[in-house]
Amino acid sequence: MTINNRIARLGDGYVFAEVARRVKKYRAQNKNAVLISLGIGDVTLPLAPCITEAMGRAVDEMGNADTFRGYAPTHGYGFMTDAVRSRYAALGIGLNEGTIFIGDGAKSDCADIFRLFSSHDVLIPCPSYPAYADIATVAGRTVHILPTSHENGYLPSTDGVKRREYIIFLCSPHNPTGVCYTKEVWREWITFAQETGSVIIADTAYSAYVSGDGVRSVYELDGARRCAVEICSMSKSAGFTGCRLGWTVIPDEIASGGIRANTAWERCRAADYNGVAYIIQRGAEAALSPRGIAETSAQVEYYMTNAALMRNILLKAGIVPCGGIDAPYLWLRCPAGYTSWDTFDRLLDRGVIVTPGCGFGGEGFIRLTAFGRRADSLTAVGIIADEYGKVGRKL
Ligand code: PLP
Repeated sequence: MTINNRIARLGDGYVFAEVARRVKKYRAQNKNAVLISLGIGDVTLPLAPCITEAMGRAVDEMGNADTFRGYAPTHGYGFMTDAVRSRYAALGIGLNEGTIFIGDGAKSDCADIFRLFSSHDVLIPCPSYPAYADIATVAGRTVHILPTSHENGYLPSTDGVKRREYIIFLCSPHNPTGVCYTKEVWREWITFAQETGSVIIADTAYSAYVSGDGVRSVYELDGARRCAVEICSMSKSAGFTGCRLGWTVIPDEIASGGIRANTAWERCRAADYNGVAYIIQRGAEAALSPRGIAETSAQVEYYMTNAALMRNILLKAGIVPCGGIDAPYLWLRCPAGYTSWDTFDRLLDRGVIVTPGCGFGGEGFIRLTAFGRRADSLTAVGIIADEYGKVGRKL
């Protein structure tokens, strides 16, 4: 037996594991310390009432011989794929039956989707959600990192990218920087993908946070159906981080060698996946109903008000963060001379947990989330502003 040696290439570990280790050590040494976390990107508000009511009804059905359900269909229940179709229809996007696959979240779908495409290397803008590079490495793909910078607003450009086929991970609104890609950015990548035979994996896990007329789905752009698979999640839009539900859209237009990608994926899913629990799918259906959209939008608004207030505190202190407008994340440059972990440790000493940017490939930055309780989040950002002031560099 030999363990997949690519796992050893993942490095010291996922950043959140190291954050947890340092926090545990700090707590052991500071027994009475009160810590506020602006670190891990998990929601804090409970499920909306219409979701728990629907799940409760589904539990009752499962306890009744006449309404009990076993294995779910490969694509997900029809009521759930219809609910997703309605969600796209509201954006003016028509999706055919058979193009939507309900799964247990965006992370697993990002990992699984590699199996659909043979022999493509993977292109990932940096900084990025760390799971992309990790899963690509474990899957044995060659990973090409595409640097983006604070100066260009973290918008990835195709300039200078070798013109060959890739699996391209694009995430918008973007974790960790909070940036929302413009139509121009999406168009540039769609053109690149079409010209090179690449496929875009559009991770829109935070689309519920897009404001104004920002892009919520890659299929708002012409040509996307020929080259983009979209992966979305209900984790952050409806508080499903613990329930688990997401979906992948594979349009009919994506095909090779006479085989449609969604037909191939259906075959693959039938081989190795048994779907998401009926109770969870009923809860997700409710979340996408008009009442569910009203209730979950109020939660998104709560988090985004947090983000706006946090931004204001930072701006008043002379610190200009990225994000916090179309995403529940704020991305800050560390004080001069400080690494991400230096800044993390210094803030931990003041009772605030943040995420070091280096965990996303963004050394010299930290990420704050707006998913916390309002009063705590504002207190913590006040401490951060104070600490930045103390170290003498205002950005
Ligand atoms: N994609 C991005 C960009 C994320 O930030 C996250 C979670 O933080 C995920 C995917 C994972 O989503 P899910 O909970 O649906 O697996």
